[in-house]
Amino acid sequence: MQILADYHTHTIYSHGKGTIEENVKVAMSKGIKKIGISDHGYRHMTYGVKLKDIQKMREEIDKLNQKYPNIDILLGMECNILDKNGNIDINENIIHFFDYVMAGYHFGSAPTSLKSMMNHFNNYIIKNEKAKEYNTQGIINAMRNNDIFIITHPGDKGDVYIEEIAKVAKETNTRLEINSSHGYLNVEQLKKIKHLGNTFIIGSDAHIPNNVGNFDKAMKTIKEAKLDLLFVENIRV
Ligand SMILES: [Zn+2]
Ligand SMILES: [Zn+2]
Repeated sequence: MQILADYHTHTIYSHGKGTIEENVKVAMSKGIKKIGISDHGYRHMTYGVKLKDIQKMREEIDKLNQKYPNIDILLGMECNILDKNGNIDINENIIHFFDYVMAGYHFGSAPTSLKSMMNHFNNYIIKNEKAKEYNTQGIINAMRNNDIFIITHPGDKGDVYIEEIAKVAKETNTRLEINSSHGYLNVEQLKKIKHLGNTFIIGSDAHIPNNVGNFDKAMKTIKEAKLDLLFVENIRV
């Protein structure tokens, strides 16, 4: 199997352990042609990228692309899906620095309203239907209202109606991630949606450089769910 791209890697700019260059070097050592640096969106209360660092990251990546011509290095961000309206933490002052935007739900995102705060609580403690509906609408509206390349780990930290999400992902040309660290999408979810014709992306979600391109867990999930590898865009078998 050849890994064409790993779009989901973290660095010291959020809560990863390695530098951008260290992630790039591991990617090259594994023969990966394209690597995305995708630290957490700035509204994550503990891990978010500092707004003042974004330009610095862009410049660092531009320099590394010159230094390492055999690999394509991209700057992305793993934005937070903040609420039911699908707001994410990107804005017009910073969007031009990025090559792509991903979005996912995380507990640590700063609430935009009392309701979004309550939803964190519902997901963390109660895990009820109300939260499942809220999470689903949040992801659907995020895809409809923003240009999102990949929805990361759908269903992780907050359950979702995955068929509804898959339908809108297809309509909006949004990829769904099979995350190799968190285990979402999982086997059960994939079995429910694999016939809908979505495009999937495997993401390592590496938080240490050595895990860049580690797709083992995702490949196991794909095998168990019997998903046709033709629907997985960033590998070639
Ligand atoms: Zn995440
Ligand atoms: Zn991540």
